[in-house]
Order: sequence, then structure tokens, then C-alpha cells
Amino acid sequence: MIKTRFAPSPTGVLHVGGARTALFCWLYSRATGGKFVLRIEDTDLERSTPESVQAILDGMAWLGLDCDEGPFYQTRRFDRYLEVIEQLLAQGDAYYCQCSKERLDTLRAEQMAAKQKPRYDGCCRDLGLRPDGKTPMVVRFRNPREGVVEFDDCVKGRISVANSELDDLVIARSDGSPTYNLSVVVDDMDMAITHVIRGDDHVNNTPRQINILNALDAPVPVYAHVPMILGDDGKRLSKRHGAVGVMQYREAGYLPDAMLNYLVRLGWSHGDQEIFSRAQMVELFSLEALNSSAASFNTEKLNWINQHYLVASPLDEIVALVRERLHNVGIDVDPELDLSNIVDLYRQRSATINELADSIRYCFEDFADYDPKAAQRALGTDALQPLQRLRDEFEALSSWQTEDIHAVITSITEELDVGMGKVGQPLRVALTGGSFSPPIDQTVELLGKPRSLARIDRAIDYIGAQNG
Ligand code: GLU
Repeated sequence: MIKTRFAPSPTGVLHVGGARTALFCWLYSRATGGKFVLRIEDTDLERSTPESVQAILDGMAWLGLDCDEGPFYQTRRFDRYLEVIEQLLAQGDAYYCQCSKERLDTLRAEQMAAKQKPRYDGCCRDLGLRPDGKTPMVVRFRNPREGVVEFDDCVKGRISVANSELDDLVIARSDGSPTYNLSVVVDDMDMAITHVIRGDDHVNNTPRQINILNALDAPVPVYAHVPMILGDDGKRLSKRHGAVGVMQYREAGYLPDAMLNYLVRLGWSHGDQEIFSRAQMVELFSLEALNSSAASFNTEKLNWINQHYLVASPLDEIVALVRERLHNVGIDVDPELDLSNIVDLYRQRSATINELADSIRYCFEDFADYDPKAAQRALGTDALQPLQRLRDEFEALSSWQTEDIHAVITSITEELDVGMGKVGQPLRVALTGGSFSPPIDQTVELLGKPRSLARIDRAIDYIGAQNG
């Protein structure tokens, strides 16, 4: 049974890189009928926060990356880590070390001066020290001195590291708490993880983790270290590049399916296909197709994909999100009002939910000013008569349906013997403030009678003021 895990440290929000790792882990488990484990690596008590745990859970939930096991919390597994540290000590695969910070600092400085790689020199390795209750001691893993650690990384290919390059790493601090490499190994072993997919900032830890797994007689998982994500300037993606937390994208009006589709393409490909539904990703995903070079974040492409999903998603889902967005900016749309038509018309031209909601705000609240060009073109004195006639006829209408509105507009063009533009365009600018909107009869219907009449009055007054 294939088992993957996503193991974030809760020291901030779920960022784009983390979400992509989570997606790859989730996809691989789904693609193989395996299981996906979520493990919160919260052993760094100073930097881990409950808010961050929540932010990670929220981000995963938004993206629909559901786990089969967990979330497990490392802070609740300390007893187990201590048990394994005891086991390694008893087996002779770990030892107590009393080297002081001063000694280690001096050693490091000497090695640096001699242009050597700084590493622990094994001073306490064979001293057989036991804790005496007074001297602060750490526990170190007794790394083999001979031989090579080798593994076939799914992304990077074969990696070999000589044991002589690795020193005896600390597995328990002097306060007894386990270190990152130890807890990860114990968890990967206990949780029967078969595939470790993670960022390549961890690749240097892998040979050390493999040695500890070997000492514990535990199976070694398959590793896939994915390259980092770069900003559009080629530097590692960070806050400098704008939003990095996935929930910021939700707030900015991106859809979870678009985000997933965008993330999967940051480091994985299938020919030159760009659009993948969730089901398709699951069907096509393989570790072999992970890219070995770093991907760059590109907001334009994300917008393009989001636009695609705005149009391709079920209309009612988009309507609900637009309604929510309008609510968040203080506009509560009458729940009875059917937004479908207008959302459907506008979704073709918006990149995000927020953009879409912005472009239809005029339906629910008065706009501040006319677009100057639109007003200049459509709200001249020759617009007065059509607007007056529209106002009178609209006021007299007993039913406020698109067809009736349409009939009023057409009859006025006939009565005044002018083209549609001479009536429709002043009306459009009067109602929306600008020259673009969905078909004018639908716009009038959507705005409702009182608002439509008030805006026609406003335009009439405006024309008067301009020419008075
Ligand atoms: N907790 C580590 C991190 O957030 C990941 C550890 C791992 O995947 O092995 O960077």
C-alpha cells in the first residue's frame, strides 16, 4: 500500500510551495489507490503557533486536499521519540556527548580556517558517557564511518554520499527533546510512509535519515525531492513577490480548482497540456513526470487558468462566490434576485471573482462618477429627449421583465426615428456610468425600477448641469 505524507512545520501560512508539495503527495496517493497522511511538525515550540496550524488546515480544506490519516502532531509523540532514542543508545547506535558550545564553536572556527567542512569530530563517540544529572549532554547518532549512502531520487536521479561526509548528528538536545531528523525518521517509520515527496531543501537530510532508518531496521521510503519555486525574477519565491499564502489567493478571488491546476503545472507536466481537472490530474499523475528544474511563478498564467475555470465551472457555484464577495465589500444582494444572467455575461471577461464582482457593483450601489469619455460621447444634449421618454415609459411599465423593457426601448427608437445607439447608449451610461455592460434590456431589468428611474434622473440632471 502506497502511503505519502505532507509534513508542514506550522510556522506561517500554507504557502504556494507547501501547497504544491501537499498536492503532489495527495495526487500520488490518489493515483495509486494509496493513503495520504497529514503530519504537523510542531516540535519547534518557539516558532509553531496554533494559528499557523489552523491556516494550514484551512488551506488544505480550501484546495480539497483531504487526508486519510491525521493530522498527527509531533508534539504529542514525544514519548515515542524518547523511546527510540533509548533504543538507539541501547543498541550502541547513539551516544551521549558532553562537548560544550565553546568547544564546538572553536572546532568549527578551526575547520573553517583550514578550509574544511565544519563537522563534529567524534570527540565523545567512544567515551561511553552516561548522564550524571549535572553535565548537560546531547545524544548523537553514531553515523557509520565507512561506506556510501545511495538512493534513487525520483526527481534528481541517483544520489550517493560518502559516510565520511556525514558527521554524528544530534538526535536529542540537552533538555532531552528530539531533533527534526530523529522525529521525521520515527514518524516515517511508524506511519509506514512508502514515498517521501518534499522540497529539495531537505535533500541533504536524506542520507542522514536513511542511516537512522537502517539502524532501526526500518524500510527506506522512495524519495522525490521537488525543486523550489522561483519568482518571475528567478529568485526563490518569497513575500517580496506578492502573495505567497494560498488563502491570499482565495481572498483575491481565485478558484481552488484553478489554483490546483496552476500548482500542478509548477513542476509536473503531461505533454503540453495546460488544463487538468482534478480527476484528470489523479488519472495522469506520476512521479516520473516531475520536472527536475525549478519552476517560476507566473501570475499572468494563473489568471489565464482562473479565467478558464470561471467560465468552465458550474454557474451556480460562481454566482455563490460572487454573492459572497459582494457581501464582503458591503453589498448585500437581495437573496431573491437571480444573479445568474449577469454573472454569466461577465464571467467571460473577468480573471477573478473579485474582478467580476467589481464590474457588477454598479447594479447594487450608485457609482461615484461617469466615465468621462463615455459621458462625453453619450450624455450630450441630444440624449435628453430619449432619456426623458425612457423615463416616462419605464415609470408607466407595470411589469419589469426584459421583454417589456426591450419593447419600450424599441418603440422609442421608432418614435424618435433614431438608431438603437442613440437610445441604448445614453441609457447604458446613465445606468452603469460607463459604456460597457451586458445587453441593455437585461441590465435595466437587473437594476430594478426605482434604481433605473433614479439613475435616468441623475443623467438628465447631469446633462442639464453640463449645458446650463
Ligand atoms: N517539516 C518540514 C518542513 O516544513 C518538512 C519535513 C519533511 O517533509 O520531511 O520543511
